Amino acid sequence: HAKRGGRDGFRIYLDSMTNEAHELMSKSSGLKQALINQELFVDYQPQFDIQTGLIVGAEALVRWQHPTKGRLMPSEFLEIAEQTGIIVDIDDYVFDLVFHDLKLLMQQDLVSQDFKLSVNLSGRKLFSKALLENLKTYHERAPEVTNRMILELTERDMITKLDRCIESIENIKRLGFRVAIDDFGIGYSSLGALKQLPVDILKIDQSFISGLDEGSVDNVITDSILNIARSLDLCAVAEGVETEAQLQALRSIGCHVAQGYYLSHPITKDAFITMLSNTAAGSIWL
Ligand code: C2E
Ligand code: MG
Ligand code: MG
Ligand code: MG
Repeated sequence: HAKRGGRDGFRIYLDSMTNEAHELMSKSSGLKQALINQELFVDYQPQFDIQTGLIVGAEALVRWQHPTKGRLMPSEFLEIAEQTGIIVDIDDYVFDLVFHDLKLLMQQDLVSQDFKLSVNLSGRKLFSKALLENLKTYHERAPEVTNRMILELTERDMITKLDRCIESIENIKRLGFRVAIDDFGIGYSSLGALKQLPVDILKIDQSFISGLDEGSVDNVITDSILNIARSLDLCAVAEGVETEAQLQALRSIGCHVAQGYYLSHPITKDAFITMLSNTAAGSIWL
């Protein structure tokens, strides 16, 4: 009896140990299925030139239309996707969606000459061997489309392996893609690292934007980031603009491009197309 009890005890111990692993496995197989069943899609958050009011681009943000749980946001499934590596396939899938959407917007003459679409990439993706080959294939198919795509990588992902990262970004840029540092300012990157990274765009993290009002520290920080961007010949994009006061503060310190709930929430592709149709070339949205 003692032997059997011991075995059961061992089994219980194992079960509790692997609970988390089971959870991970079931969620990750759900995600694999989601890719096969095409349950993933993107919303687009428009980006505006806040000095002129024109739509200058949009960021694609992934969502999961789950068969039983309904619409899931990135915070509900990207962590598991990162842990299991499925993020690499998700990013491929999203990239393909965005490429085709941009092609369509261009064919229908809905966007201006300098309109750009941004896609988020996981750091894992940056170091996957397949990335460059994949990007090359799209570039060869339609360089006029890929020339208007921006790849966003977080500061944290870039800084972990700086040398390899610089090399990857150089290769990506040779194909005509632009590269943005996402969530800029909250990571660990030094100005020395920033100087070495061959990026085009800094996306100022929304934590700074949310603190923008006259005389605040965040005002000074945002102004400094804009100055750094100008000195390094980079574009700056303000993320997470939620109020009129924040918008005015950004305008007065000379920020051009911004996105945020106050300007527009992320919206469906169809709603975005409607927005673009209503703002025919040259007209002002804001
Ligand atoms: P992110 O790239 O920094 O995207 C901005 C996030 O802020 C989005 O959240 C957006 O909906 C939200 N946001 C926009 N304006 C405002 C605002 O005014 N206030 C506030 N509080 N939030 C605002 P979302 O869609 O939940 O995405 C979260 C993160 O998930 C993204 O942060 C990005 O890191 C990641 N992500 C999204 N799509 C993809 C993807 O296709 N691939 C990868 N690898 N990551 C993705
Ligand atoms: Mg982003
Ligand atoms: Mg961001
Ligand atoms: Mg973010």
